[in-house]
Amino acid sequence: MTRRDPHSYADDTQAQTDSFALTARVDFATQTIAAEVTLVFHAPASGRLDLDTRDLTIESVHDALGRALAFAVHPPEPFLGARLAIELAGPTPSVRIRYRTSPEASALQWLEPAQTLGGARPFLFSQCQAIHARSLVPLQDTPRLRVRYTAELAFPRELVAVMAAADRGRRDDGALAVHRFEMPQPIPPYLFAFAIGDLASRDLSPRCRVWAEPGLVDAAAYEFAGVEAMIGAAESLFGPYDWERFDILTMPPSFPYGGMENPRLTFLTPTVITGDRSLVSVVAHELAHSWTGNLVTNANAEHFWLNEGFTMYAERRITEALEGADMAALSAALGRRELDESFERFADRPAMTKLRTHHEGIDPDECYSLVPYEKGYMFLCAIEAAVGREAFSRWLRDYLATFRFGAITTEDFEAHLEAALPGALAAANARAWLDGEGLPATAATPRSARLDAIEALGGAVPSPAVTAAWSATEWALYLESVPRPAPEATCRALDAEFHLTASTNHDILVPWLVLALKSGYLAVTPRVEQVLAAVGRMKYLRPLYTALAAEPRTRELAATVFAQHRDAYHPIARQMVETVLRPK
Ligand SMILES: [Zn+2]
Repeated sequence: MTRRDPHSYADDTQAQTDSFALTARVDFATQTIAAEVTLVFHAPASGRLDLDTRDLTIESVHDALGRALAFAVHPPEPFLGARLAIELAGPTPSVRIRYRTSPEASALQWLEPAQTLGGARPFLFSQCQAIHARSLVPLQDTPRLRVRYTAELAFPRELVAVMAAADRGRRDDGALAVHRFEMPQPIPPYLFAFAIGDLASRDLSPRCRVWAEPGLVDAAAYEFAGVEAMIGAAESLFGPYDWERFDILTMPPSFPYGGMENPRLTFLTPTVITGDRSLVSVVAHELAHSWTGNLVTNANAEHFWLNEGFTMYAERRITEALEGADMAALSAALGRRELDESFERFADRPAMTKLRTHHEGIDPDECYSLVPYEKGYMFLCAIEAAVGREAFSRWLRDYLATFRFGAITTEDFEAHLEAALPGALAAANARAWLDGEGLPATAATPRSARLDAIEALGGAVPSPAVTAAWSATEWALYLESVPRPAPEATCRALDAEFHLTASTNHDILVPWLVLALKSGYLAVTPRVEQVLAAVGRMKYLRPLYTALAAEPRTRELAATVFAQHRDAYHPIARQMVETVLRPK
């Protein structure tokens, strides 16, 4: 037995899946999917096959000759799910599994019509990262094994299906629509993704289309109009875009992340639609994943920084190319603050602040933080500083080309860098970055003139002339620089002058609400409740619930509000809030 991913039962000594063909019938009434999947192996195989499943009902397993195969679903283990062990009778090129998903499938969120903007039709979407694909499809759920797939989804004909795959056409059949998709490029299973709902689209360029509920689609098209320019900037930095299309799906407000880099169809939170294109850096981030993460993928969650640290670096290079070095530095400064908060959160589990981590017995969702993002980013900046930008950029392009459509570990990264730029790892103090806790003493601090101007305020209320040209990032940096608890007079003055409580830009609103709560300025409480009722993005839920729970006067409110909205939150967000509210 050779298992090389602590989050999967996939065994290196067994058959490996090359592609799968899925047919699935989606039933909104029972919130289940009845499906059949054929897993096709790289080569005909016999013996034992272990697959990952979670909450699946396995009905039958057959081989390519139609012979029924013996199988056993083992008792589930915490967060890993249940091992499905199949005995392959003789050499067979494939197995066919008939199964049903559970209404509790952790990859799916089923939304009632009332939870959508239009209010008339239900909505269903998947989120497979980190290890939720197994609640949708029985498979080897590890990024080490990339797969191609075809999928045929049947669903009520008044709805529209989209998938992170190529569109192969739809036909209506009675009350049902059947929509076929194909993913010709091999992907790690966590990038398997689809959504079904009341959706409309607008073309942004020949290779970019935005999807959203009909009531939001024009606003989304306006917000993301610059995406083709972003792809152009990214291609000139990192090489050709390998996924043909870059479409965007605007998600319902309960989507737990800012975005999810599903290939060909990025999923984005609607909170980035502000009407002023001020938060589109999330698009740059998901686009950057087309190279870092989707093309060169971490072999397992222990090397997650290879996905996210590289993507933060790539995102800020795109920002720098399009908006200038100052904007990239502001973004890095904000990232540095968020990194310090993550370090505080892991004060009692400092091993989680390393870049190279050990995940045996650890739920990857439970230890999700910005450490792999922002510490990974800073590490790559340290290497860049050691070897110079030109040499680093050349190495990065070579790294991306070398490991294209592959899955790698931190050791693969080290070996490649050392071969290309001997001495670079030592010069950047790589050991301390990768295997040390917190930040090395040599870590650089991001600097920019605009950042200096904010720091010079020392938390004092700025004049409107100063803030007139501020970006959302500058507002967030300023609000987080105000010493807390801030005097009530300061909170009152800020709110009176800048109407912060009324802001609809959550990247400004939420840091303000957190400052107000931590300062005991409880006039904002109704607005806090409003945000927690309307939005399920963890970036906002976590600081708001943390601030409510930290203050004796609002602790009970945190529990009440959560009880009220927990069912509307995505399962991943629900789990996160439960952790925040758990008595320490
Ligand atoms: Zn990312």
